[in-house]
Amino acid sequence: MFKAILLEQEGTQTKARIAQLDEAQLPEGDVTVAVEYSTLNYKDGLAITGKSPVVRTWPMVPGIDFSGTVEVSTNSRFGVGDKVVLNGWGVGENRWGGLAQKARVPGEFLIPLPKGLSARDAMAIGTAGYTAMLSVQALERAGILPNSGDILVTGANGGVGSFAIAILAKRGYHVIASTGRLEETTRLQGLGAAEVIDRQSLADKGKPLQKERWVGAIDSVGSYTLANICAATKYGGVVAACGLAQGMDFPATVAPFILRGVTLAGIDSVNAPLAKRLAAWGSLAQEIDTKIIDAIVSQVSLEQAIPTASLLLEGRIKGRVIVDPNL
Ligand code: NDP
Repeated sequence: MFKAILLEQEGTQTKARIAQLDEAQLPEGDVTVAVEYSTLNYKDGLAITGKSPVVRTWPMVPGIDFSGTVEVSTNSRFGVGDKVVLNGWGVGENRWGGLAQKARVPGEFLIPLPKGLSARDAMAIGTAGYTAMLSVQALERAGILPNSGDILVTGANGGVGSFAIAILAKRGYHVIASTGRLEETTRLQGLGAAEVIDRQSLADKGKPLQKERWVGAIDSVGSYTLANICAATKYGGVVAACGLAQGMDFPATVAPFILRGVTLAGIDSVNAPLAKRLAAWGSLAQEIDTKIIDAIVSQVSLEQAIPTASLLLEGRIKGRVIVDPNL
């Protein structure tokens, strides 16, 4: 038996509870993992509270990422005792995920725990840090480098935003952090933000083209914020769109794209191919120091993760929440 968060549907409501489950109930897969850590991502918050239709099959064990040790494997890439990391692939959405003491998945979903990171470090970084790195790498692939100009990061106090600031600052970028929590300015400066702006200045409908302010952006917010970011991006700049904390809509015009040559780069962590995952995690292992991790994470048990999911959606959590299912 193992402990897990179990989501069940009652009418249109999602009910979350702690359950003791039998290993025989785990989904098919050639690798069974003893989960050491999982995390609470925005998407997990949506799944646990039922605020958005993230969960596709019921009952569901949520948790879109985990790290742990292989317990059983018939996959040629992984043997018993190997340390592994999983991000995405629909885990926690359409098949049982990481907010549990055990998980079973196809081996191709897993990557080896990168050298230099502990299982806890890997989940402190989690899908948020991995997505932040995919976003930074997308900007750089498109030619945006530290001497190109300022980079805006939105949702600055969130998981993706916090890691994006830390990664960009360490690489020598001048980072402008946008937040609704200006009282956290010192914390954001500690992560490496050179300037902090009020997210309200980007939140409402704005002009199709605005004063050019940044050459690149990593946006975890979407909606009017993303439209305003594009409208204020300098000629030839690049905007990496990775999230929808304000909304899934994109009420923009094509003006920044056709008059300023701005590029909108979409970032998907869920189905990213193996090569991109390995490149992102390799860079994370080299660049993220444990001091940053300590400044970004807090830790909860499976039981505590259920109420914490609501706080996350209310924007009341700073940085990353890791979940120790064995607490
Ligand atoms: P968090 O909840 O940790 O952070 C989201 C942050 O967005 C908040 O901390 C807050 O930052 C800001 N925010 C919240 N509500 C609003 C609002 N109404 N308007 C403007 N800003 C708001 O989430 P994550 O960092 O884990 O994820 C961020 C987004 O990225 C989510 O939408 C998530 O679904 C998406 N995501 C996408 C991935 C992909 O593969 N593309 C992978 C991972 C995440 P502050 O208080 O500083 O303003």
